[in-house]
Amino acid sequence: MINVFTKGLLLSTLITVLSACNKCHMRPQIIINGNIMGTVYSVKVSGHIPVKKACLQQKINAVLEQVNNDISTYNANYFLFHFNHSNNTHPQLISRGLANIIIMAQRIGHDTSGAMDITIGSLVNLWGFGPDKKPVKIPTEQQIVEAQKKVGLQYLNLFSNHRGEWLQKTLPNIYVDLSTLGEGYCTDELAKLMMRNGITNYLVSVGGAISTHGLNGHGKPWRVAIQQPIDYKNAVQALVDLHGYSISTAGSYRNYFEKDGLHYSHVIDPSIGKPIQHHLVSATVIASSALEADGWDTGLMVLDTEKALKLAQEKELAAYLISATNNGFSTVMTTQFKAFMVQ
Ligand code: FAD
Repeated sequence: MINVFTKGLLLSTLITVLSACNKCHMRPQIIINGNIMGTVYSVKVSGHIPVKKACLQQKINAVLEQVNNDISTYNANYFLFHFNHSNNTHPQLISRGLANIIIMAQRIGHDTSGAMDITIGSLVNLWGFGPDKKPVKIPTEQQIVEAQKKVGLQYLNLFSNHRGEWLQKTLPNIYVDLSTLGEGYCTDELAKLMMRNGITNYLVSVGGAISTHGLNGHGKPWRVAIQQPIDYKNAVQALVDLHGYSISTAGSYRNYFEKDGLHYSHVIDPSIGKPIQHHLVSATVIASSALEADGWDTGLMVLDTEKALKLAQEKELAAYLISATNNGFSTVMTTQFKAFMVQ
């Protein structure tokens, strides 16, 4: 018996909290919501708003289209789809945006000793979590070993010259999957759009990634809730106040399937070629960019709680980890994360 728990629209693992405060004067606010990448985005702007809402919506649409263009593997109109589906090993000219993502992916891939690896696509697809989705079948060991041979950051070459940025695969059938960084990248691009338009008080979010700047409609830092890692309800596990920082959460409880009583998450451990099989169920990271937070949260999720905490401490990350226990959940966090917690 297979139970599949996923997608339509992926629900966010973080929630913005609109705090009620009768004494505070509410400043003007614009809220724009929509869909992108199989998930939801939201833009909240407060204070002085130099752009009309309709105009801002148009600009947002243009950014979303550009993001898809840069990194979508879901649509044959976009570059990465063709990069993945062709055997061409010649260098190909790429956008500055894509190059920036690859640079971040290489850095976090290195720092996590390959736990976060954007060449994981063959394994993600094999387990039924890629664009082709189900039917869900547990792959054979032979299929896993074959797919693992196509995973490794060493098969991706990134370089630049006077003509621009170039990406080359040295293994013809490698498959780059930027799903783990897509939400963070898109969030950062929306944040840049706000700044370009003179908007300095905003919270933008795409799926489980959020970027903030300035103050909310009550003149306070933006308050964000980390959800309890339960797939069927929106219960709050912790609250943080953000003011110019980004936050992202990865979890194993929203996108998974069950077979014969076992839980198979969309987070794959490249070293075993299988969905993670430990008790860490949610990892949240706060960083200066959403791209960075989004890369690290998946990297930490792949490791178990102990290794993730040790690495987060070594790298001085603001990280918050939730693990499943027999009685519910236990949490640990780094000192850097504590500074953001609402007591
Ligand atoms: P995260 O934890 O941030 O990332 C998990 C995802 O990363 C997994 O689903 C897998 O794809 C990948 N991954 C798993 N293990 C690893 C690992 N060890 N290292 C690196 N990566 C790993 N989905 C749709 O259903 N429909 C769409 O139309 C659609 N369009 C998209 C367009 C774009 C441009 C992008 C980037 C993604 C799109 N997606 C779409 C995918 C969907 O948005 C992703 O499932 C989502 O981004 C994953 O985010 P998350 O927060 O759930 O998981």
